[in-house]
Amino acid sequence: MDRRQLLLTCASLALSCRATPASRRPSANARDRRFAITIDDPSTEETPRYSADERNRLILAQLAAHGAQAMLFVCGKRIDSPQGAELLSAFNRAGHLLANHSYSHLNFSAPANDAEVFAGEVARSEALIAR
Ligand SMILES: [Zn+2]
Repeated sequence: MDRRQLLLTCASLALSCRATPASRRPSANARDRRFAITIDDPSTEETPRYSADERNRLILAQLAAHGAQAMLFVCGKRIDSPQGAELLSAFNRAGHLLANHSYSHLNFSAPANDAEVFAGEVARSEALIAR
């Protein structure tokens, strides 16, 4: 299976997943419960209150202060710069997970954005995540 086939297979599996009904989920006591922190679209854009660098350093500091690990869903166009590479590197050095959120954040439900477009978007973002 080549990389393109793998991406299309993964996309198909993701689209076919369904939530498990509550009645079929294993129960866990409070000590075993966990939650996930996911961060959507990290950015190197400035905001009125913080610079991008300050904002991301604050996020990393808070995660570290709480011993929490996050999964960063990376949208390629937002990190396609030297600043973006540094942002990813900082999260990676801190032990957080980097996940692919396509390059352009397109609406993949739109008919024009077919599997071919999806595969291209994922591959383009993957190249940036892997650098
Ligand atoms: Zn998003």
